[in-house]
Amino acid sequence: MKKIDFSRYSSIKIGSVVDVEMIEEIDEVFERYAIIGGANNILISNNPPKLAKLSKNFDHIMIKDGFLHIGGATPSGKILSFAKKNDISGFELMQKLPGTVGGMVKMNAGLKEHEIFNSLVAIKSSKGYIEKKDINYGYRYTDISNIVYEAVFEIKKGFSYPLLEYFEKLRANQPKEPSAGSCFKNPKNDFAGRVLDECKLKGYKIGDAGFSEKHANFLVNYGSASFDDTMSLIELAKKRVFERFGIELELEIVVL
Ligand SMILES: Cc1cc2nc3c(=O)[nH]c(=O)nc-3n(C[C@H](O)[C@H](O)[C@H](O)COP(=O)(O)OP(=O)(O)OC[C@H]3O[C@@H](n4cnc5c(N)ncnc54)[C@H](O)[C@@H]3O)c2cc1C
Repeated sequence: MKKIDFSRYSSIKIGSVVDVEMIEEIDEVFERYAIIGGANNILISNNPPKLAKLSKNFDHIMIKDGFLHIGGATPSGKILSFAKKNDISGFELMQKLPGTVGGMVKMNAGLKEHEIFNSLVAIKSSKGYIEKKDINYGYRYTDISNIVYEAVFEIKKGFSYPLLEYFEKLRANQPKEPSAGSCFKNPKNDFAGRVLDECKLKGYKIGDAGFSEKHANFLVNYGSASFDDTMSLIELAKKRVFERFGIELELEIVVL
């Protein structure tokens, strides 16, 4: 068990000190817990469920039988460095995309059409390997309900520096303040940032929680935002957008 202070650990810097069970080895008992990775897409409530996190034992990268096996706790930065060094493509999107492999696979993290599932082959769960064809996935969505202990990827040669530069440019309008990435998923054929902006929510604040002046779909913490401020802002945005456009915004951020 480890005490984690979410006001420091989570990327949005909200939450209190919570007991988190550390997973040292594969064990079905942890399927009953909510799993956290790097907490870059998570908002911890004042009363979270039982939490668990993969230990350093799951932070590894290995080439085996022509595939890349990456432990669920391996951070994106380490994978990007490995891909550069070994001239492997498909991982350029991890540039400034904070997270662990477990969290990235569960969220099918990515940018535009570049998603982690593009080069995924299988995941390792407590019940063995599950192949990609047996997983339902889409835009920032998967139906994975198991803990991802490891992910297996294809090895495609040719790390792309132009792609890295392209991602760097796409990120130029991201705010510097603490956030959990995009707050809402983009509605079909539209952009969450656009509809929030149209509803005059760009720069709108409740307490220290606000939709960034730079990009309306980034809910940022201007200092000491609370969970309640953040949820009030989320609810207000959903209501306004529904009233104006009839669109039900879906959260990308995971509330625990
Ligand atoms: C500045 C910033 C920029 C971002 N940009 C992007 C972007 O461009 N594209 C994008 O897609 N996302 C982006 N994000 C969001 C975030 O980086 C991704 O969602 C990332 O995948 C989160 O990984 P994590 O390890 O932090 O997961 P967490 O936030 O800890 O968890 C996210 C979800 O994954 C689950 N999970 C975590 N680990 C496991 C595991 N081992 N097994 C099963 N489930 C698990 C959690 O239960 C939760 O449901 C951004 C975030 C920030 C702060």
